[in-house]
Amino acid sequence: MLNWYEKNKRDLPWRHHSDPYAIWVSEIMLQQTQVATVIPYYLRFLERFPNMASLAKAKESEVLQYWSGLGYYRRARLLHRGVQKVWQENAGILPQEIESLKGLPGIGPYTAGAIASIAFGQAAPLVDGNVVRVLSRYFGLKGHAKSPELLRTLWEIAAILVSPSRPGDFNQGLMELGATVCRTRLPACERCPLAKGCVALNSQDPEAFPETPPLPKTLKLTRLAAVAQRGETILLVQAQHQRWFQGLWGLPGEFLDREADDEGLLSHLSQAYPGLKFSRMVALPATRHAITHHRITTQAWSLQVSGKLTPNPSFKKMRFFPKGALPSLALPNFDRKVLQAGGFCP
Ligand code: SF4
Repeated sequence: MLNWYEKNKRDLPWRHHSDPYAIWVSEIMLQQTQVATVIPYYLRFLERFPNMASLAKAKESEVLQYWSGLGYYRRARLLHRGVQKVWQENAGILPQEIESLKGLPGIGPYTAGAIASIAFGQAAPLVDGNVVRVLSRYFGLKGHAKSPELLRTLWEIAAILVSPSRPGDFNQGLMELGATVCRTRLPACERCPLAKGCVALNSQDPEAFPETPPLPKTLKLTRLAAVAQRGETILLVQAQHQRWFQGLWGLPGEFLDREADDEGLLSHLSQAYPGLKFSRMVALPATRHAITHHRITTQAWSLQVSGKLTPNPSFKKMRFFPKGALPSLALPNFDRKVLQAGGFCP
């Protein structure tokens, strides 16, 4: 495994770092996001927040802005909180013990194992989706990829296998093998260093391991949204209780359990923003966005606005932003899609 990793590892930016903070950032960004997507965000993020001090002192709104487009913003908030905790309570020194790492916001067993082994050279195991695939195939283990029994067994196996002398390379090697060779579909067994003893390969059907977990039922949601313009500015709000994307600016609107129509939007707007008057409604193309098993269709209208914003306890903040500021703001992706479809934002 170690020899294979040495010869075949991809040249990725976080592999040039030994700084535990930089490794922490990469591990959080890589959760649920592909390597190619993460790279530009990672480089930009570390350029702005090169160390714990800079991130700990930053405002959450700026952190979210640098995360904007990467999705799953909760990760960014928890990373920010975790770094602030280490900065304030541990003099900016990231603890090395697995249990202390797991006590930090946003760090679960996988991330704790990754930081402990890669940044601190501790013989700590880790199991992510790639490791699940490689080990369940190699050992021919039954069970679906999310089954607690299979995961418990895999954690135990990973703990036995991890190299005491080069745990970080070993763990990264397993993950790299899963990402580049032991792929979900069409694993390249002919160039796999584990082919000789692989039970799944010998069974002639490696793709049968691990079994596919039952899919959660897809939920369809409809959302109404308004691109409310006053001159060259657009109204954005932060609701008190957002279903997703707490702390992000977003277009005024609401989720519905019925068809979206312009009258519904006008009635929502006049209740939520009593000081504003809306006119010249133009329907924008409907946009679609997926969050986990939710399929969200947003029907938006552009409107002209006059009048004044009046305080409403349902909103933390509401403000008109210049259109030119939209590209650099942290917005939910479903709102960014609306703005792009309407030509308000590149
Ligand atoms: S031999 Fe094939 S199935 Fe087995 S671990 Fe290697 S790539 Fe995966």
